[in-house]
Order: sequence, then C-alpha cells, then structure tokens
Amino acid sequence: MAAIGFIGLGNMGGPMARNLVKAGHRLKVFDLSEKAVAGLVDAGAEKAATAADAARDVEIVVTMLPAGEHVRAVYLGTDGLLAAARKGTLFIDSSTIDVPTAREVIAAAGKAGHAMLDAPVSGGVGGAEAGTLTFMVGGADEAFARAKPILEKMGKNIFHAGAAGNGQVAKVCNNMILGISMIGVSEAFVLAERLGLDAQTLFDISSTASGQCWSMTSYCPVPGPVPTSPANRDYKPGFTAGMMLKDLRLAQDAAKTAKAPTPLGAQAAQLYALMEASGHDSLDFSGVIKLIKGEI
Ligand code: NAD
Repeated sequence: MAAIGFIGLGNMGGPMARNLVKAGHRLKVFDLSEKAVAGLVDAGAEKAATAADAARDVEIVVTMLPAGEHVRAVYLGTDGLLAAARKGTLFIDSSTIDVPTAREVIAAAGKAGHAMLDAPVSGGVGGAEAGTLTFMVGGADEAFARAKPILEKMGKNIFHAGAAGNGQVAKVCNNMILGISMIGVSEAFVLAERLGLDAQTLFDISSTASGQCWSMTSYCPVPGPVPTSPANRDYKPGFTAGMMLKDLRLAQDAAKTAKAPTPLGAQAAQLYALMEASGHDSLDFSGVIKLIKGEI
C-alpha cells in the first residue's frame, strides 16, 4: 500500500481522502482548516504540519484545492510541494482549475524531477463519498498508469484524456454542455407551464424524444418527474450555481485563448452570474429555472 500525501480536505477532498484510508493506504494530510484535518485524523490519517510536510517521504501526493491560484501557491516556490518532495514523486491535482495553470505547474513538476497529472472530477460530493467519481486525466502515459490504481479507490470511471491539461479541457467542456443544457431544459418547462402543458407530461414525452438529455432525465429542474433532483428539496445543492459559474468562466477564458466561438457558453455564464449578483449562487445550479420564471 502506498504512502500518500493529501492536501485540501474540503467537501470533495475530505471524502476522497477517507476512501484512500479505507482502502488501506497510509495518508499524511494537510488543510488550512484544523477541523477538516481532525476529521481525517479520526479516520486514521496522519496529520502533517504544513502542505510541504505532507509531500515529504511519500510516493504520491493528491491535491484538491479551490482554484488555480491556490494550486500555484501550494506547488510552486521554495516552500512549495515540488521543492519539498523527493524526486520521482507522483502528483495528482484533482482541483478544477484553468488550463494554463495546470500545464505550467505540470511542466514545473517535470523540471523538478517529478511526474504530475491534472485529474479533475465530476460526480459531486455524493460521488466523492461513494467512491464513484469520474476522473478526467491529462499527462504522460507512465504517470497515468501509476495513478490509475489510486484513482480507482476514489472513482468509478477513469479516463485518460491525453496530454497535460487535457483533463481540465474535458472538464470545462463537459460542464459548459451541462450549464447550457440546464438552461434549455428550464426554458422548455417554463414555456410548457405557461402554455398549459403540465411538467410530468412534457417529461414523459421529451425524456423519450429528441429533447432528452441528462439535465432532464437525471436532474430535472422541476419538482416531481425525477424524485432525487434538487428541485424536490427547494434547490438545495447538489452542485451550486456559484460552482457552475466558476466552471463556465474557466470555459470562457479557455475559449478566448483558443479563439473558439462559444456564444451559448457566454450567455449561460451571464445567467448564472445574475444568480450570483442576486445572492442566489448557493442554490443548486438547476435553480436557474427560478431566474427564468422571474422568481429570483
Ligand atoms: P472546498 O472549498 O470545500 O475545499 C477546498 C479545501 O481546500 C478547503 O478545505 C480549504 O481549507 C483548502 N485549502 C485552500 N487553500 C489551501 C492551502 N493553501 N493549503 C491547504 N488547504 C487549502 O471545495 P470543494 O467543494 O472540495 O472543491 C474542490 C475542487 O473540486 C474545486 O476546484 C471545485 O471546483 C472542484 N469540484 C467540486 C465539486 C463539488 O460538487 N463540490 C465537484 C467537482 C469538482
């Protein structure tokens, strides 16, 4: 069993780290939150004094941090992870961050004599707890082969998306589809209601017709047709509108750099930004239907 450093024990990182402990790995953990660290120590992990300390004398380091700026701060510099780790350490960054930062930090890891992958996830807190996350991984074949058995302890679907940064590319493209499709489904349900067609009937028809998509059949934004969807619990997340906005902004930054036209992605980002501006970004992202209805 491997010795693993784990940094970033929040909503996602906490349960992911717990699954590695459960699988029998020796974990050294660090987070700025003492409470988050205490939770993992209770589960059987060892507390590290600093992030760099968590990366010392381990074979693999996993990071699950909020954004690109945190990843840079933790990895780079004289007191960063790359300087502290012994040569040949494998780094797996599962944070959702911008593509340039992912590629820059992976290049820096290579220069420092380490291997590194970007490996963002989808599946949310539920998937992190159940160990059923989807990992979208970018980086060298050998590093992917080393990481796979570890990722399999935290996820169910592990995809190698190609070169460094491609995991982040897959993640922002997937979430751009999701953000746009949720708005499309929401508009259709509001229109149907206004025209006198009830939600269940539209669902029964469209879920077996060409309008079918995940936003409708697994995460329907109206209460009733999909009992597990956040619409049935007053849009308690799930995946917040604020997180969707973060990912759509990452997609827009990437689209600008790549000169790729994404008019609907841009519009979707603006609609979730309206939820943020009105203080509703902690609702589930499917709560965008309330914005379309004029309720928020
Ligand atoms: P979170 O805010 O709950 O956790 C982040 C953790 O990182 C916190 O515990 C924080 O204290 C810690 N942290 C921040 N800076 C640090 C530092 N310098 N050193 C050590 N620890 C530090 O966030 P989360 O929901 O766990 O999300 C983590 C990443 O996963 C984000 O990039 C997010 O976009 C992505 N993601 C989240 C979800 C979701 O449903 N929550 C789903 C898919 C992907």
